[in-house]
Amino acid sequence: MPSAATQTNAVPPLGLLLDVDGPIASPVTRSIAIPSIAEDLAALANAGVPIAFNTGRSDGFLREQVVPPLLEAGLSRDARLWGVCEKGAVWMTIGADGTGEVTVDDALTVPDVVARDIEILVNRDYADLVFYDRTKRSMVSLEQNTSVSNDQYLARQGEIDEQIAAIMSRHGFGFERLDAKTPDAVGNIDYRIDPTIISTDVESARVGKDLGADRVIGFLRDADAAVPRRWRTMGDSRTDYAMADWLHERGYDVAHVDVRPSEGVPNVPYPVRHHETLIHDEAGAAYLTRWVQMVRGEAADDADV
Ligand SMILES: [Mg+2]
Repeated sequence: MPSAATQTNAVPPLGLLLDVDGPIASPVTRSIAIPSIAEDLAALANAGVPIAFNTGRSDGFLREQVVPPLLEAGLSRDARLWGVCEKGAVWMTIGADGTGEVTVDDALTVPDVVARDIEILVNRDYADLVFYDRTKRSMVSLEQNTSVSNDQYLARQGEIDEQIAAIMSRHGFGFERLDAKTPDAVGNIDYRIDPTIISTDVESARVGKDLGADRVIGFLRDADAAVPRRWRTMGDSRTDYAMADWLHERGYDVAHVDVRPSEGVPNVPYPVRHHETLIHDEAGAAYLTRWVQMVRGEAADDADV
């Protein structure tokens, strides 16, 4: 019989790095709308699969929208889950008793003068269109109000982003926005203005989904836990591929699931999966169910989901 120590260090059959908005939380309701998603996540975690939610969302969002259905589904004492929030700048553990202490990497925080000026801009000119996400600890996020249509929002997003760029320049900070780079007086680009389909994030240029992947492997090593060889990453944006890029570059066996492939599937050196017909959280749910079957030995792979 294997000793307790051997069992603790058994290599999990799979590891998961999951974007939240899109594959897990419905982009419409912005919550977990499909019951099997929480059930399958709990089943995977309870089977020893390390799971990280690698998201631009805040820890507060995860605590409100993602953690309660997981707890309801029932997490075991030795489940290993993390919320890696604000693209790697903020993190916490998630367990049977809820969430652990929140850690913020202060080196990655947007300067307060910028945050305050953006908040003033929103309140003065764009309160009908977006809200300033006060749950963010490190980045600044302006998110589309659910009272306006996505088309209405996207039609004016660029105009808001121009104003944010002007604020960054006024305070002397270098930044990148889409493909344009605006260095500071000494040539540095420390920040990024990152438009998404429902928000604009202003963030450190060092955050990203690859940083989240780096953190999670670090958490496993710090806990002396065995690191899986096989990983799946899942997201709905081009930037989510950075998780799989990071793992692949370090020799892990990774496939990326893209639940919104209409945005364009890049040419990458690892398998990319997408569902024939389902997108967003409906596709996410289908892959989670298959991964449960895989760790139970009921399915060999997920290439045909
Ligand atoms: Mg997403």
